Amino acid sequence: VLHLRNPVSDENRGYLQADCEKCFGLCCVALRFSSFDGFPIDKEAGTACLNLKQDFKCSVHESLSQRGLKGCINFDCFGAGQKISQVSFAGRDWRGDKATAEVMFKSFMMMMQLHELLWYLEEALTFIPASSIYEELRSLLDETKRLSELSPDLLVEIDINAHRASVNMLLLQASELVRSEARSGQGDIHQGTQGRKAKSGKKKSIGRGADLMGADLRTTDLRGANLRGSYLIAANLKDNDLSGADLIGVDFRDADLRGADLSNSIFLTQTQVNSAKVDASTKLPTSLNHPAKRN
Ligand code: SF4
Repeated sequence: VLHLRNPVSDENRGYLQADCEKCFGLCCVALRFSSFDGFPIDKEAGTACLNLKQDFKCSVHESLSQRGLKGCINFDCFGAGQKISQVSFAGRDWRGDKATAEVMFKSFMMMMQLHELLWYLEEALTFIPASSIYEELRSLLDETKRLSELSPDLLVEIDINAHRASVNMLLLQASELVRSEARSGQGDIHQGTQGRKAKSGKKKSIGRGADLMGADLRTTDLRGANLRGSYLIAANLKDNDLSGADLIGVDFRDADLRGADLSNSIFLTQTQVNSAKVDASTKLPTSLNHPAKRN
């Protein structure tokens, strides 16, 4: 059994889970989206979706899945919506004041990025093999929290790319520590080497940013693999063990994760899980909602 994660501290991420009841429907208005991506219409940023009601609830919430609105179902703001609505703007909504609306939407976009970084930093602090860098992780976590508490006018001025770059550097170090622990004593793990043949018969390379669309990876050893930014759209990972695999930015749309074990994978998000094919036999980290086990 691999001891990669401290489950107790992983419960610290509750504040990064979306609470739509406390949000002014920000994702349904602030974002630009298209019907091609599974949203109801093509619309510009700052225009409310036609299904957003006066009370900021969705009029088709109960039938999103029958309508094939995957974009809406899969979306996750990492709790940025309620933070902007209730903390940054102290309960003041965007209706009726164009200037407020503009700053609110911009700061929401910024808050989503900060909360996403907080999600990963909080998670990295649960990695047992990364204890040597906890101090740096805590300091960047505190700095990111401080930024997320700025007033809306200052929030929109943050140099998010520079901040993201420093966070990413540390997350990569945490990832290396976990992956090396996951690989130790487990024989040959395919890191940037040749993987299994895809259905086309052409070998696909496994590793950071790899194109693994539609690949049959059921028997490929992915424990401790670096899959950062890989395209696993419609890939078959059925019953595979992804312990210690770094899944940051992986595109899992329609990937088959039935029976797969992701409970010890790192940097997995709710959006990724929601966009994949999972069933009750899929094992997920405890910090995520299990789509097949919802009440
Ligand atoms: S359909 Fe509902 S959830 Fe989707 S964008 Fe419109 S209001 Fe939001």
